[in-house]
Amino acid sequence: MALSQIQPGLLRKMTVRKVLESLQTHGPLSRADLTRDTGISAPTVSKVVVDLLESGLLEEGAAPDNTVGRPGKKIQLARDGAQVIGIVLDQHTCVVLAASLDGQIDGERTSTFATPGTYDALLNQLTEFVQRFNEDTTSQTLGVGISTPGLVDEEYERCLFSPNLQIINRQTPALDLTKRTGLESICFQETKALCMAERLYGNARGLDDFAMMDMSTGLGLGVFSGGELLRGHNGLAGELGHITVDPTGKLCGCGNHGCLETLATDSALITMLSERLNQKFLIEDIIPQLKNGQIQAPDELNRVCEYLSIAVAAAINLFNPATLFLYGRFLSINAALPEQVVRMARRRTLDPTFEQCSVRMAVTNKQQGAIAAIVHHLTRSAGPRMSG
Ligand SMILES: [Zn+2]
Repeated sequence: MALSQIQPGLLRKMTVRKVLESLQTHGPLSRADLTRDTGISAPTVSKVVVDLLESGLLEEGAAPDNTVGRPGKKIQLARDGAQVIGIVLDQHTCVVLAASLDGQIDGERTSTFATPGTYDALLNQLTEFVQRFNEDTTSQTLGVGISTPGLVDEEYERCLFSPNLQIINRQTPALDLTKRTGLESICFQETKALCMAERLYGNARGLDDFAMMDMSTGLGLGVFSGGELLRGHNGLAGELGHITVDPTGKLCGCGNHGCLETLATDSALITMLSERLNQKFLIEDIIPQLKNGQIQAPDELNRVCEYLSIAVAAAINLFNPATLFLYGRFLSINAALPEQVVRMARRRTLDPTFEQCSVRMAVTNKQQGAIAAIVHHLTRSAGPRMSG
């Protein structure tokens, strides 16, 4: 195909992306502000805005009261006329929720249920909630994002292997959900989804080089490098959790022994405490008891902090992020724990890379991750699919 034939489509796609990213970063903007911020000509921006308004991705807000002359209505990501649905799959519980395109989660339309024992039962539950959230509103549902633990083949939408949720292995939940509901659905690996959430709604706004370590159920690493997610050969990069750190350690969901994720996560802490106290715990129950001193666990906490510091040091040494975000619960037990992890990581890191990196807790969560994933997908794919 000749360059002249490709170029209009490419330019258009770039304009769409710039307009949407500008609105994601700044919130509602007038057409004039959009033109200034994107550096694209006013007629081109206007044409793309018209198409995006038609597609439902954007809405016009109210005109400002104090405008002289022709009032310029602000353009924003859809809040009223359109919604997206997010799904978080996890080992013990799953969540289905509705949100606007600017990431506002509708708390009244958020449902949590225990993860069923079979894939068919899971799909039935998901279908039921998605259909309910699609039908109980006048908003148009533009898509469904599924935050998925384990390895996801993005091209074929297949869950390749999930050590902590094996019922989805080799399954295609996004395609299956689309077949049942008619809604465009995508699977997004959960740590990569967390990266997107922190970049769209959290403290990674404007950061092009950062990493996100999920240390909750499993241990995963998402890396943003040069403004793009690091994918690897086929999108599977970042499985830091399955590096062996104790060859004679516990059996991991992946089949190996002593993987980092069996030692450095919320799940690792729960396993250690469950064994010592001979009682089954859930993370949401045990964190308050550890915080108020009902349960004392200095040895277990030292151990998970030590191994987490190995993971943190590995991420910093390997990827040189400007910020490393941590997502998980146990570091919230007391303020000394994050400091302890950073101190121990410092000893295991090369000084120059450590000094250039700040380590902080993520402020977004997996629910926002599922929403960010579908919003990201819709904004990236808006260009080529639209008419014109
Ligand atoms: Zn493993």
